[in-house]
Amino acid sequence: MKYLVLLGDGMADYKNDALGGKTPLDVANKPYIDSLAKKGIMGTVKTVPDSLKPGSDVANLSVMGYNPEKYYTGRSPLEAASMGVKLLPTDITFRCNLVTLSSEAVYEDKTMLDYSAGEITTAESAEIIKSIATAFNTNEIEFHSGISYRHLMVWHGAEMDFDLTPPHDISGKKVAEHMPGGKYADIIGGLMKKSVEILKDHPINKSRIERGLNPATSIWIWGEGTAPAIDSFYEKNGVRGSVVSAVDLVKGIGVCGGLNVPEVEGVTGTLNTNYEGKVEAVINEFKNGSDFVYLHFEGPDECGHQGDVKGKVTAIERIDKLALKPILEAFKKMGEDYAILIMPDHPTPLSVRTHTRDAVPFVLYRSTDEKNNPDYVYTEERAEATGVKVAHGYELISMLLGKK
Ligand SMILES: [Zn+2]
Repeated sequence: MKYLVLLGDGMADYKNDALGGKTPLDVANKPYIDSLAKKGIMGTVKTVPDSLKPGSDVANLSVMGYNPEKYYTGRSPLEAASMGVKLLPTDITFRCNLVTLSSEAVYEDKTMLDYSAGEITTAESAEIIKSIATAFNTNEIEFHSGISYRHLMVWHGAEMDFDLTPPHDISGKKVAEHMPGGKYADIIGGLMKKSVEILKDHPINKSRIERGLNPATSIWIWGEGTAPAIDSFYEKNGVRGSVVSAVDLVKGIGVCGGLNVPEVEGVTGTLNTNYEGKVEAVINEFKNGSDFVYLHFEGPDECGHQGDVKGKVTAIERIDKLALKPILEAFKKMGEDYAILIMPDHPTPLSVRTHTRDAVPFVLYRSTDEKNNPDYVYTEERAEATGVKVAHGYELISMLLGKK
């Protein structure tokens, strides 16, 4: 038996006027997902406990079977693990975004135009983080470059006393109300302000502006955390597994849980990612000893944050056609029995452009136990109407693995 989690980050949504009062899942053409819904179990599940913020970190931990109330120590340490940065117990890590702020002279007057600096490429951002590191690295603080706009700051020996805002929560808002708080507010705010000077005439930014792309005008520090202690996925579940994802956060959960985390070239964490490469990686992992693969797509979430209605629908359709379809064909070719869990980690509704903590719809299909619900389609409303409710996201893994 092979087990697959197909995770469309932020895929669930609210009914939207731009879609005629429907959700992206309602209108997306996704015949392969729907066919599994008709032959599987459908329901809703709460992935984010009330005590925690609805981040992809918390929600993906939960879907991977780890109770976030027990295992969550912050987002950035998971990303650090994926980036191969070793942490001491006394280190605090932070996400360092490259963002586009508006051009007012006073930092606090600026507006958060783009938390992703135009989804800046990894090659470009590596140059920019190099300049940031040259200017800012000390014995206490160091910067490491990651993927696209997502980078890392490590602080050796600070105390955990921070109040920091995720930049994707303040899209289109003035930053004044959202500047760093806590004991080290001045130091972190100071780095963010000084970064504007360093980046102002940076050749990468000049080139991006010439090409009509958003420049990286500032760093934005948030997502503090300490080294996690995540139990081995294999020891917990008795199954060897892999994680295939573009984003360090999700890969980091895999690394910390001792799963295999293959690198796939050309993945972006957006709608335009290397679908073929990811599918190939999934099939390779199954052929090379993994019985469980966690396949993660970030595209729907990014479109949700950007308020990109069309893009979000397309992201879902591509997951269906460019990922699920070839994987189903591969399972057939391998002649293996299989179980597939399809779900988002959390909703990223287009209307609010950030994550919410609502329960999310899931489909659980098992080739050895097909159901017959010809009227099922995979939508928020239909999943809710089944009345099947799973209280905690971390229970789903046992259901997928047939232990419950
Ligand atoms: Zn998100």
